[in-house]
Amino acid sequence: MKRNERKVVVVGAGSVGTSYIYALLQTGLASEIALIDLDQQRVEGEVMDLSHGLPFIPPVSVKAGQYADCADARLIVVTAGAKQTPGQSRTELIQRNADIIKSISGQIQDQNSTAVVLMVTNPVDTLTQVALRSLALPRGKVIGSGTVLDSARFKYLLSQHCGIDARNVHAYILGEHGDSEVPAWSMTHIAGIPIREYCELCNVCDYQKHHKEIAEQVRDSAYHIIDYKGSTYYGIGLSLLRITGAILRNERSVLTVSTYLQGEYGLNDICLSVPCIVGEEGVERIVDARLEAEEQKQLEHSAQTLRHIFDQVGL
Ligand code: NAD
Repeated sequence: MKRNERKVVVVGAGSVGTSYIYALLQTGLASEIALIDLDQQRVEGEVMDLSHGLPFIPPVSVKAGQYADCADARLIVVTAGAKQTPGQSRTELIQRNADIIKSISGQIQDQNSTAVVLMVTNPVDTLTQVALRSLALPRGKVIGSGTVLDSARFKYLLSQHCGIDARNVHAYILGEHGDSEVPAWSMTHIAGIPIREYCELCNVCDYQKHHKEIAEQVRDSAYHIIDYKGSTYYGIGLSLLRITGAILRNERSVLTVSTYLQGEYGLNDICLSVPCIVGEEGVERIVDARLEAEEQKQLEHSAQTLRHIFDQVGL
């Protein structure tokens, strides 16, 4: 079947899936968006609501989809997952979501799709690895949103701290999308200057103290948002849009998506985030940079944490 280069399938019609579609619709990037969820009524409602805005935006079709839609899609974004139920442990929730992702991957696989599969459901690194094992696709084509959101939070907080445009901050969070994530200070630059030098030149803050606080704020952001409003969806929606643009427009953008490592950064057989060049085929190259010794140690610890979670899933 001929691929529709501007077709996106979204699995999961919850807050994340629909916030992403709401942002995607407005860009004119996609010509066709198909939404799939177990809750058919919810899908119908979301599609009607979104469609009523179509007279105001570039032409695009939004419809209730089926797995058959994956056959000619360019990108499949998986946001489907179970919520933690009362009394359920974190490990039980991970197992439940791993089972959901195995089942969804099986249904995608049945369509012989050549689309890039972008995983979002948490724990995103572990579930990217589950999907990669279940799909007969090259490693670059099964990726996770990883720390693209965390890196955006990092850039935003640094931009606020330094009083400059967030788009002029180059900063990366590596490793797990979670508590063991690693702020890569050695890769962080403003105006082409390493951040520590920039802060010394600027000389208005106690930057060592503030850098530590910023890294902690990035790591704890999701907890605060969940405390205040239940869940996070706008930031991740725009992060997914950024990744979508890189794939649909073959931008070859450097993004910290979660990808399967085979020796890069001295790590093997684990999915986590490092800077990757993302284009039409997904991850086209992993940027295997040299980190400072302490950052490398933290990345290895993050990989061990993820290995422990992956082993619990018992594939
Ligand atoms: P939600 O509960 O609003 O939506 C989840 C949807 O998945 C529901 O509509 C549900 O019916 C559907 N679903 C469940 N099982 C399914 C199946 N087998 N097939 C198809 N659909 C199924 O949740 P949300 O707020 O949209 O979050 C979705 C996921 O994204 C969660 O796992 C959340 O933790 C994760 N998330 C990830 C990031 C990130 O940076 N990676 C950020 C925010 C949220």
